[in-house]
Amino acid sequence: MKNGAASYGKCLFCNKDFSKSAITRHLSTHLTQRLKEDRPGKSFLIKVETDPRWGKTPYFLHLWVDGKATMGDIDDFLRGIWLECCGHMSSFTNPKQKRRGGMFDFFEAQELLMKDKMKDYEKLMEEANGEVPQSKKVKDVLYKDLKLNYDYDFGSTTSLQLTVAGEYAIQAREEIILLSRNEPPEIICSNCAKAPATQMCTVCIYNSEAFFCDKCAKLHAKTCPDFEDYSALPVVNSPRMGVCAYEGGTIDVERDVRR
Ligand SMILES: [Zn+2]
Ligand SMILES: [Zn+2]
Ligand SMILES: [Zn+2]
Ligand SMILES: [Zn+2]
Repeated sequence: MKNGAASYGKCLFCNKDFSKSAITRHLSTHLTQRLKEDRPGKSFLIKVETDPRWGKTPYFLHLWVDGKATMGDIDDFLRGIWLECCGHMSSFTNPKQKRRGGMFDFFEAQELLMKDKMKDYEKLMEEANGEVPQSKKVKDVLYKDLKLNYDYDFGSTTSLQLTVAGEYAIQAREEIILLSRNEPPEIICSNCAKAPATQMCTVCIYNSEAFFCDKCAKLHAKTCPDFEDYSALPVVNSPRMGVCAYEGGTIDVERDVRR
């Protein structure tokens, strides 16, 4: 990835470019304006980015989500645009609701296990972990400034953070609307340093030469047997690029690859 490449995205309402740091506030002014015209209801502006505990990335989304949608609908959307490779498990967690648990949860859990009450046991464990059930309606979970963690795949995990940037007394036009997304970061071929990279080698990523243009990918296949075999993956606009078998999304596909 090009060092210091600024991350920016377009506003769906006015089609202008904004930096990652400015666009949240900009989008909220559009939604506030709509309060006068749109149908009453409840909707939320959600900023999605990679979990900041693992460092900075250029990836971000802004979603306008209707209160009647479920947390599972958000999960589907995140899978569709950024994550889905082979149907891994995923979860939303509220770090503030994580109980200390400890011995109390332990004894209660043991009792439920002994009585073979698996449903109750699972529910208890979810609560102890601060897990937000995906069947819950968005309006019953979200409120302004809430931050949730989201994990996709508990093996090669992609961790995201969702921040509720605004709450509005109007319906969203659909369950989930993509209001902005970072434009594909510019990644230049690490071999010729001229053309944009289209493929990466998930084995060679551990030394620096791992991103290739179409021409250099053919050359790389001659020297890296893994690349021919299994380790070639497309360069895509997602924090899951190069992980597991991720090959790109099904939503907003035109912004997945830099052309
Ligand atoms: Zn705008
Ligand atoms: Zn996978
Ligand atoms: Zn090249
Ligand atoms: Zn390689």
